[in-house]
Amino acid sequence: MGDPDRLGRFGDHGGQFVPESLVPACQELEQAFREAWADPRFRRDLDRLLAVQAGRPTPVTPAWNLSVELGVTILLKREDLAHTGSHKINNVLGQALLARRMGKTRLIAETGAGQHGVATATAGALLGLRVTVFMGERDMERQALNVFRMRLLGAEVVPVTAGSRTLKDATSEAMRHWVTCVDSAYYCAGSVMGPHPYPWMVRELQRVIGDEARTQCAAELSTGVPDYVVACVGGGSNAAGTFAGFVDTAARLVGVEAEGGAAATFGRVGVLHGFRSYVLQDDNGQVVEAHSIAAGLDYPGIGPEHAHLADSGRARYVTVSDDEVIAAVARLARTEGILPALESAHAVAWVLRAADSGELPPGCTVLVTLSGRGDKDITALMERL
Ligand SMILES: *Cc1c(COP(=O)(O)O)cnc(C)c1O
Repeated sequence: MGDPDRLGRFGDHGGQFVPESLVPACQELEQAFREAWADPRFRRDLDRLLAVQAGRPTPVTPAWNLSVELGVTILLKREDLAHTGSHKINNVLGQALLARRMGKTRLIAETGAGQHGVATATAGALLGLRVTVFMGERDMERQALNVFRMRLLGAEVVPVTAGSRTLKDATSEAMRHWVTCVDSAYYCAGSVMGPHPYPWMVRELQRVIGDEARTQCAAELSTGVPDYVVACVGGGSNAAGTFAGFVDTAARLVGVEAEGGAAATFGRVGVLHGFRSYVLQDDNGQVVEAHSIAAGLDYPGIGPEHAHLADSGRARYVTVSDDEVIAAVARLARTEGILPALESAHAVAWVLRAADSGELPPGCTVLVTLSGRGDKDITALMERL
């Protein structure tokens, strides 16, 4: 996928909508990332970290039984097998390594369900950086286990009591706090969102998913490239990383959003957390909360590059319902012995529907990114199944 323009825009989206006090910090970050990304030593250090600590490369495995049932060939990119159980580790290890290179001593992050917070706490522990995680008070109650997990990993968890006391408010608070300590602290974004250079940088750090999968598909498929490449979209980092490996091929790219958090489908252009993109808003332009059974998809915006890919038609964005997602978890569990995260099951759910409806032609090949494992979702599933 292309790089953003000089102003950090992907088409009409993206940019850098931050208070003046953060402009130098964003510029310093862009400069530092450009240098690091062009430095073979940094790349080697990161590759080694990803291999030794995160268990990369993650495999691509054929979903044999499900493929037979559906009449299409399904390959799964297994980010559920990465350390900490999802793709988030790819991004945070990269940013933590960059923070250390920049001489920062602390990582600041926000978290909704706690997944990004846990990943950041993990990277901080590994690389010797202090970690402060902002989390909505309501999310802290709902995700008590992850709060404990972060503290066990040595992170400080700060409750956010503003607004709806959830992810959107925690993100605002983390950015406000960053303003007060930009010299020593590094703001670690959890997805392809935030002001430039974050959406671009996080996509580059996640493209390891797509680059690996491209090679792995070439070994697995006689056609080399799958006909469809499918991933779930919250902010859009696992999808952006996956798509990056296939955007220059004929593969159709499909991003699957939660019905209640579908910014690409139901959002309007707005500015949120430092960037312009499609955002869920009410009639007065107020940002509304997203709702999904998958906490990791509860973000009211979508990364600016996805908004651009939607505008240009290079990728398609579709939605699935909570009920379809639960059915998809059960189906993958019984056919393949894999318990996907509720987020990842969105991608599976669309494949099930599209195969059933004939939208996926019989015999076609489909790569699905399984962004994470479902152990964290067992309680939610017990309530619904
Ligand atoms: C956080 C999360 C997501 C959503 O984030 P993206 O930036 O859209 O990838 C998806 N799946 C899992 C397992 C997650 O933890």
